[in-house]
Amino acid sequence: MDDQTALIEKCKQRMIPYECEGFLMGKGPRNPFLMFVGEAPGATEIESGEPFSGQAGEYFDQYLDYLGLSRDEVFVTSTVRSRPYRLTRKIGQNGEIRESKRNRPPTQNEIEAHAPLLDWQIEQVKPQIIVTMGNVALHRLVSTRDTITTLHGQMLEVPLRRRENSFQSDEHWGLTSKKWNVFPTFHPAAIIYRPSIKPIVFEDLNILRGFLSRPNSEKGEKKS
Ligand code: URA
Repeated sequence: MDDQTALIEKCKQRMIPYECEGFLMGKGPRNPFLMFVGEAPGATEIESGEPFSGQAGEYFDQYLDYLGLSRDEVFVTSTVRSRPYRLTRKIGQNGEIRESKRNRPPTQNEIEAHAPLLDWQIEQVKPQIIVTMGNVALHRLVSTRDTITTLHGQMLEVPLRRRENSFQSDEHWGLTSKKWNVFPTFHPAAIIYRPSIKPIVFEDLNILRGFLSRPNSEKGEKKS
C-alpha cells in the first residue's frame, strides 16, 4: 500500500463515528498557481465525484471565469472529504416516516479526522497561492481568530496549521516552518444565501487576478 492509500484508509477509519458519507479527494494538477480549498462536498459532489459540481459550483465556475482560468489549471479541494449530513424525519401523507439527509457544516472532530489528508495534499500539490473559501477553510489553515469578514481579499503570508505526528498518540496541531501565500475569500455558497456579497467577492477576485499577472507568476500575462 502506498503512502496516499494508507493515509486515505486511516482518515476514513477516523471518520466512521460521524454522520458523513462518501469520499472525494480533490482534483487538479501539481504545482498550479492556485489551490482552492472549500468546506466539504455535498450530495451532488459525492454522486458525481467532482468537486463543486452542485449549486455552489455554478458560482465557483464564475470565480474561475472571472480569473480567466479553467478547472484543469487549478487544484480544487476541501477541508473535509466526506459529506457531513443531518438525518431529518418527516411523516408522509400515509403516515409513513420519511428520512432525508441535509448537508451541514463539518464539526471540529470531522475537520481533525481528515486534517492529515489536506496537509499531505498541500505538500504534494505545492500551489503558489492557497485560496481559502469561507471560514471553515480559513480557520483550518490559518491560526487566527479573525473571520473571513475582516480577512477577505488580502494576501496573507503565513505558516499553515497542520496536524503533527498524525496517527501517533500525541497527534496535535502545529504550524509549518514554511510560510505560504493564503488568500481568503467567501465560499461560493455564501452568495446563494447572501446575494448582496457578490460584488465584494468579485472585488476580492479582482485583487487575486492582480497576483496572476505578477512577473514571477507562472501565468505570466495580465488577465483582462
Ligand atoms: N462546498 C465545498 O466546499 N466543496 C464542494 O465540492 C461543494 C460544496
